[in-house]
Amino acid sequence: MLLWTPQPQLSRVKRAKLIKPISRRPILPLGLVAIVIVALVVCSPLMGKLAAHEPFDYPSTSLRRPSGRALRASAQGKPQLGIPSPKVHPLPLSLAKWQRSEGIGDYFSQVKPTDVGYLIWSQFPVQISIEPFNLEEGEGSRKRYERWKKAIVAAIEEWDEYLPLEQVTGEGFADIVIKYAQPPWNPTFNPETGKFDIPRSRSAETSYKFYLSEDSPPILRHRMKVLISPGMAYETTLSAIRHELGHALGIWGHSPLETDALYFSQVRDPLPVSQRDVNTLKKVYQQATSLGWKLEPRE
Ligand SMILES: [Zn+2]
Repeated sequence: MLLWTPQPQLSRVKRAKLIKPISRRPILPLGLVAIVIVALVVCSPLMGKLAAHEPFDYPSTSLRRPSGRALRASAQGKPQLGIPSPKVHPLPLSLAKWQRSEGIGDYFSQVKPTDVGYLIWSQFPVQISIEPFNLEEGEGSRKRYERWKKAIVAAIEEWDEYLPLEQVTGEGFADIVIKYAQPPWNPTFNPETGKFDIPRSRSAETSYKFYLSEDSPPILRHRMKVLISPGMAYETTLSAIRHELGHALGIWGHSPLETDALYFSQVRDPLPVSQRDVNTLKKVYQQATSLGWKLEPRE
């Protein structure tokens, strides 16, 4: 059986490809808490057998302590700003008008918030960039890329019905960046056993990170990166990106039902985004979050 294997990892982002505007220069002039967090939810359909419903251990997140710069700013009498208190954003129209059908539930209980709340977008349309074809790969591989991209676009159109999405060119301003790439394969050393933990190969992966906008006061925002492997069949790619986009739009968890796009394991005949998926998405967007709000003065 094919499966999505959730293997959350937590790592510092040093490469920070997605947040160039804030990665090279001081961004915390007011003594803010620096926030650099990455967490991923990993779902790999290609290898392995399903022995049991593996417990999904959500990635923990952590906030860095104020930097030396922050402390100095504080000492100079400048205000210190902290994480915004969680508040509810207005629903986008498409979700506001979504009505639950009688007897169709959701799997909201499986969605876990981060330390700063649920991963909710508050500026619409959510901007998505799709990695363009790399000419260096040669024309021979263009067909493979086009098949991949067609699946990506189809999945974006599916979700766009429920949450406004827009394709943009270039990664610079994108909220969600979709990469034509296989997720890295990272065996880790387990000091307890003295052995390496060898993960299964993975075909898709979604990660997020938080950053501060350049507004004054800054707004706490997030970006998502989705890796989708090249070379899979169209239906497999579509199923993978549909699932990963669900994570990227805020469903940070998995459904126990295989008729849902966010089912944790890949299925033989994947279905479109389900009513339960949308019920869950709507419930996520009805929650309070610190994301999308201005930092607040703190004691
Ligand atoms: Zn997943």
